[in-house]
Amino acid sequence: MSLSITHLGSGSSGNSTLLMTENTRILVDQGFSGKKLEKKLASMGIEVETIDAVFISHHHGDHGGGAGICQRKWNLQVYCNERTAQELDLDFQKTTLFNSLDLIQINDDICVLPVPVPHSGSENVGFVVSHDGERCAVITDLGSFTNELIQHVRGCEHISIEANYDERRLRLGPYPQSLKDRITGSGGHLSNDQTGEFLQRVVTEQTRSITLTHLSQRNNAPHLAESTVLYYIDEIFEGDIFISGKNGPEFTHFIGKNRGEKEKSGILIL
Ligand SMILES: [Zn+2]
Ligand SMILES: [Zn+2]
Repeated sequence: MSLSITHLGSGSSGNSTLLMTENTRILVDQGFSGKKLEKKLASMGIEVETIDAVFISHHHGDHGGGAGICQRKWNLQVYCNERTAQELDLDFQKTTLFNSLDLIQINDDICVLPVPVPHSGSENVGFVVSHDGERCAVITDLGSFTNELIQHVRGCEHISIEANYDERRLRLGPYPQSLKDRITGSGGHLSNDQTGEFLQRVVTEQTRSITLTHLSQRNNAPHLAESTVLYYIDEIFEGDIFISGKNGPEFTHFIGKNRGEKEKSGILIL
């Protein structure tokens, strides 16, 4: 029994992550056009119709812009909170509304817990997904982190989290001051340092892999994000760290009991 985590792409041009067990396939966010999603999944030999549920974190186009097409074209069920469903004008027949901290079971082997995170103008949530006693977290677009989030993410086997900007690059870069203030505000995005501070509080010996997502093309760079975050967790973390870019699918991680066998069999290589 294992759960794989594959990033189909991340960044301001679209975000989606595929979580998959033997029986269940879910997407966390769908910010791609139907064609793009179809192509990305087809490259893994997966048809969109076979997705059991599409979870949307918040209504911004790069996360929820492709939810409606999943309902219309493939009849998929979308799971989100009411505000997100309204903003995205979703088909309520094919939408399951959740409240923060509802535990949602998909088939018999995946549980999803939406945890609220601060992000201006939206009711954003991060997701903690559990399978067979192990957990992974997929969290993006938050200007700050809360104790509640720390409590739910601490000790997850895999953590995907945004590392949006390098403070220096943003400060010296060309964005107007009002936009800089919005990005750095408590409802904006996490800087590399903030992501490091968060990970320092949630990474434990159980944590085997971390993927940094949603890097700003202009205000960040993979080497800056990785080195900054590692500075904070160096003493606790011995697993793998990855950066997810916009051209997934990439970086499949396994959590679960037969994770080692799958890695050995080469399923990891996409
Ligand atoms: Zn975003
Ligand atoms: Zn957003």
